[in-house]
Amino acid sequence: MSGAKGGYGAYFCNRNILQEIRRRISVDFTNYLCYDQVVEYLNQLSDENSCELIVLGRSEEGREILGARIGSSDAKAAVIESGIHAREWIAPITALYIISQISKDPEMVDNVQWIIIPILNPDGYHYSWLDIKNILLFAANRSFSSLVVIYFTSSREFSCTDHCNEDYRGEEAWSEPESRSIKYLIRQLGPSCALYLSLHNFLQSIMYPWGYSKQPPEDAIDLIHLATEAQTAIRNKYGTRYRIGQSSYIDRLTPGCSIDWAKAEGKIKYCYSIELPGPTYRFEVPPNHIVKIASECYEAIKVFRQSMSYGKI
Ligand SMILES: [Zn+2]
Repeated sequence: MSGAKGGYGAYFCNRNILQEIRRRISVDFTNYLCYDQVVEYLNQLSDENSCELIVLGRSEEGREILGARIGSSDAKAAVIESGIHAREWIAPITALYIISQISKDPEMVDNVQWIIIPILNPDGYHYSWLDIKNILLFAANRSFSSLVVIYFTSSREFSCTDHCNEDYRGEEAWSEPESRSIKYLIRQLGPSCALYLSLHNFLQSIMYPWGYSKQPPEDAIDLIHLATEAQTAIRNKYGTRYRIGQSSYIDRLTPGCSIDWAKAEGKIKYCYSIELPGPTYRFEVPPNHIVKIASECYEAIKVFRQSMSYGKI
């Protein structure tokens, strides 16, 4: 979800707690994690050889934009990014849950490498934890461009030029280190990248490009087919019904969103935004819903893995 208003809960990170978490942390997905905790957890997983840490870039305030690679770097690649929009806390914790599950399941890396970036916008995410006032629906990074700066040329004329608007596109294309991190990663992976997922909330939907246009992509039928399999897997877990549709219809016109760029310029056929639940809580998803939401999403991830392992995508 890129533009709706909502509220936020008081889950901010206490500075004293930050000192504590320098020691080993135990993550059971019953609460949200601040940026430093996420870094700590990723480092722990790396130390245990559960994943390989990749530094994709550095934010304007100097925070590392970290990715976790699981699987052989020779295999087909699936990229999952989350945390573009700082206020959507359920997305990064879901990405971490996915990392933790994949790292325990050798079947998930059968002919697939996963590159998962839990917090693509670390400055914005950190800022959203500091004070409740800041959380007031802070979507952008700290240089006040939301990552709606990952746009491709044809959509630029529709992008938001208002500096104070949460959809502000940035000074120019690729002005933000967060979007550049994705560009370099996708360029590096090249044709080996078969799947690109962007996690958000709260529209409870699997959305495919285009966001910049109401015109469907030429291969929409293929995208809908795979999304339907994922939708069924999600529903089979706890009965939650996700919608499927083109992002410009389910959300609104979202020129410059990452899945548009990944498909148009990155040449990745299967690109989706997974909008996690749920409409009831909007951005304020209670922590006791994390495991349910993340484990449902993981059912979709397993479907994507099967399609990649069996050479269907
Ligand atoms: Zn979003």
